[in-house]
Amino acid sequence: MANSLKIKSVAKSFGALNVLQDVTFDVEQGEIVGLLGPNGSGKSTLLSVISGFLPEDSGSVSFAGREMLGVPAHKVAQQGLIRTFQLPSMPHRMTPRELIAAGARSGRGLRNLLGRAALHGPEVDAVIARFALEPVADIPASSLSGGQKKLLSIAVALQGNPRLLCLDEPTAGVHPNLRARMVQILQEVASSGVTILIVEHDMHFVRGICDRCVVLDGGHIIADCAPDQLTENERVVEAYLGKAKVGIAA
Ligand code: ADP
Ligand code: MG
Repeated sequence: MANSLKIKSVAKSFGALNVLQDVTFDVEQGEIVGLLGPNGSGKSTLLSVISGFLPEDSGSVSFAGREMLGVPAHKVAQQGLIRTFQLPSMPHRMTPRELIAAGARSGRGLRNLLGRAALHGPEVDAVIARFALEPVADIPASSLSGGQKKLLSIAVALQGNPRLLCLDEPTAGVHPNLRARMVQILQEVASSGVTILIVEHDMHFVRGICDRCVVLDGGHIIADCAPDQLTENERVVEAYLGKAKVGIAA
């Protein structure tokens, strides 16, 4: 029950477009589950529903035994359900060092709240080093590259003491060496009891990290299986090779 996510019969439409239909699956505490599917299959929408950024039309999402229906995003985050965005937007007026030091707290008036010691303490330096952000630690966060923004958003999410981490395409634009490091970091996080749901297209990454994969297509779940079984699933192969032409067998 603790840190487990239960998604039951979730539906979400934008006008006439039924993006999610009868989506049901659970993620157990400490499990790393990949959320896969072609572009436009509703993955980011589902993360937004789970994290309170979008209301579902029907169905329910419960986390650690609590119903999240109607709970606003900031309250969902306070429960430890923390998400990152596919295209992270970073503030102009804050540096990666300040964002990491602030963790999940509001950045407003932060420089006044955080003393020099907190900003330059060994813990913050260690996080910066772990995510290879040393060269950009003290420049405006908005000027980082796409991959660096991804790394920074994960570093900041982890500072917020997540119990459930929802990551939207965390490796996009990230150098392969750092992807390997990300696998290691996320495995450590999961083994400490944090539940992780990852939207990801990189199948090498998925095979290396996910215990299970849930595949969405046309708003429906078409597979819920171990990563190794994906290529044996005709609906999954059709969804990727038949329509989106994204190689899943590679
Ligand atoms: P994925 O992350 O799987 O690529 P998304 O969840 O971002 O897909 O989008 C699923 C579908 O919903 C797409 O067709 C997208 O254009 C549409 N969509 C997403 N957000 C909105 C929105 N706020 N308003 C209208 N349509 C949206
Ligand atoms: Mg998306």
